[in-house]
Amino acid sequence: MSDRKFEGQVAIVTGSSSGIGRACAIYLAGLGVSVVVNYSSNEEEGRKTLDEILSKGGKGILVKADVSKEADIISMFDETIATYGKLDILVSNAGLQKDASFLDMSLEQWQRVIDVNLTGQFLACRQAARQFVKQQSQQASDNKEESQYAIGKIILMSSVHDIIPWAGHVNYAASKGGIMMFMKSISQELAPHKIRVNSVSPGAIKTTINKEVWSDPDKYESLLTLIPYRRIGTPEDVAKAVAWLASDESDYVNGETLYIDGGMTLYPEFADNG
Ligand code: NAD
Repeated sequence: MSDRKFEGQVAIVTGSSSGIGRACAIYLAGLGVSVVVNYSSNEEEGRKTLDEILSKGGKGILVKADVSKEADIISMFDETIATYGKLDILVSNAGLQKDASFLDMSLEQWQRVIDVNLTGQFLACRQAARQFVKQQSQQASDNKEESQYAIGKIILMSSVHDIIPWAGHVNYAASKGGIMMFMKSISQELAPHKIRVNSVSPGAIKTTINKEVWSDPDKYESLLTLIPYRRIGTPEDVAKAVAWLASDESDYVNGETLYIDGGMTLYPEFADNG
């Protein structure tokens, strides 16, 4: 992908102290984007992401924020604007699992997943949208020539479980299913402001969130039967798609969910005639 147009852009990547968020932050920085690396509790891991960006000649800062807390989100955006003066891209990635059978699921397990995975997306996306609208009016009042491309790009991290039901993980599946309608609705509302909103929905990507599966040879083999492409995904597989959605090359893509899953959503059980 051409990196020319990314030069000078600014992105916030939530939950970029590990896994997919870290890969997105490093990949975007490699394209010339200044990246706000966000962590919620593990500063050391957040710093590792930033150090890798800086060691490769990229730009970025490290900001602590729990995405489920409104005050944290507001101060992360304030710090971003104080440092860079603007925002171009939000990758709303932070998420977690608190698994339990439905019968045993506690209110705390339900609530925490909804708070981080869904309310966290609401808070981050709302703040980004407010900033983009402010930048748009600023440009208009400065009589700057309007770009033909989107003024702001939002990419939400969903999951194949926004369409594949997942017993034992109903809080997670409900949060990701919620992201789909949330994303489509805000995309409809924000498009007239020249803000593009899309989701990516990864399948099985090798990160700490699913270590318990890929580190066990039997579970790993059984996971591969769910993936027609017969390999587990890497965080970079997702980062490349995120970068494309953040680029002008996808300028007419709005309100879409891009599945990055090696075919997991193709009903692999039906490959042999069902
Ligand atoms: P991960 O555990 O490595 O990363 C999750 C990140 O979110 C971590 O950096 C964590 O610190 C951060 N986070 C958690 N709670 C937070 C909070 N309250 N505030 C700020 N940050 C917080 O796992 P991952 O696989 O990289 O997950 C990233 C996203 O991708 C999640 O939204 C997850 O649901 C989604 N996803 C992952 C997979 C997969 O197979 N790995 C598949 C589909 C979707």
